[in-house]
Amino acid sequence: MKKNILSGIRPTGNLHLGHLLGTVDNWVKLQESYNCYFEIADAQALTDNFDNPDKVNRNVKEVAIDLLSSGIDPNKSVIFIQSMIPEIAELTVYFSNMVTVARLYRNPTVKTEIKQKKALFGVKGEGVTYGFIGYPVSQAADITAFDGELVPVGDDQLPLLEQCREIVRKFNTIYGETLKEPAHYLSNMPRLKGLDGNEKMGKSLGNAIYLKDSAEEINKKVMNAITDPNKIKKDDPANPEVCMVYYYHKLFSKDDLETINKECRLGQRGCVNCKKQLVQNITTFLKPIQEKRHYYEMNPEVVDKILLEGTKKAQAKAKEVMKRVKKNMKIDYFEEGKD
Ligand code: ATP
Ligand code: MG
Repeated sequence: MKKNILSGIRPTGNLHLGHLLGTVDNWVKLQESYNCYFEIADAQALTDNFDNPDKVNRNVKEVAIDLLSSGIDPNKSVIFIQSMIPEIAELTVYFSNMVTVARLYRNPTVKTEIKQKKALFGVKGEGVTYGFIGYPVSQAADITAFDGELVPVGDDQLPLLEQCREIVRKFNTIYGETLKEPAHYLSNMPRLKGLDGNEKMGKSLGNAIYLKDSAEEINKKVMNAITDPNKIKKDDPANPEVCMVYYYHKLFSKDDLETINKECRLGQRGCVNCKKQLVQNITTFLKPIQEKRHYYEMNPEVVDKILLEGTKKAQAKAKEVMKRVKKNMKIDYFEEGKD
């Protein structure tokens, strides 16, 4: 029996290199040997974008196209839309009884995100909503509604997964063995840093190179990257290990890495040329993905069909799990209401 995988992405913007190297490349490999469910988490995206429904709406199909262009194969994996599976919301309600508010506030991922979202939640987080603070609970429902056993994620998600395991253990202790306890699966690039030196490239952080970016856009972003601050003139020697351009060369210029490192240290390489080389390599790397994107953009009905069929399959699985949940919680009152 193949194990189930559940992982998700918020439709808050297009996919960037962090998603691809940190998560989606992994999904592409895993779909060969697991039952994969990939969720477009629109309900979760609305927790901090409730006032911008157009953004979330637009990005559902954009993210679907990004996933398909990156190699997610709808014949092997299920791609579905979270809000179209009401069982997830239902399960969230029951899970919410098993989590204290204090525990949610202590979750390191939630803490970091509240700090990052000062404009929305206030400087001290005094404006945090019930929906946002509760998103780890709904994420636990996302995973368990599909009997998720393995969850491939970036390392920013680990505390959320720990919280999910706590909920599952509590649920199973109270209501009897019902839900599977998921394990995380980290890629070998659990966190891609931003070109701006931020610890994470993120959609909401304004530092992302998107899979659909044109060469000009990539150029603009790479030209602003943080380099060794001690290098003033073109031929000053520098330390590549403190340079974000070199950090990216390590990923996209593997064949020339030794030369790049040596020339940088000897002051034989100006930052502008060094950046141009990186732009070229990232552009070449993204070309096949962008060609596939073009196909899906030209054929939106293909994308719609994939999403509708995926959501139908996901729905069937969530219904099966919910039946078990209701039975064990003793809230399955009538025969006809049991499915
Ligand atoms: P947002 O800022 O809206 O939360 P995000 O860029 O964090 O967007 P998510 O949709 O929250 O993207 O994350 C989807 C998945 O991609 C998660 O598993 C997350 O860990 C992973 N991920 C996101 N950014 C990176 C990154 N820079 N490096 C590695 N993995 C990443
Ligand atoms: Mg995120």
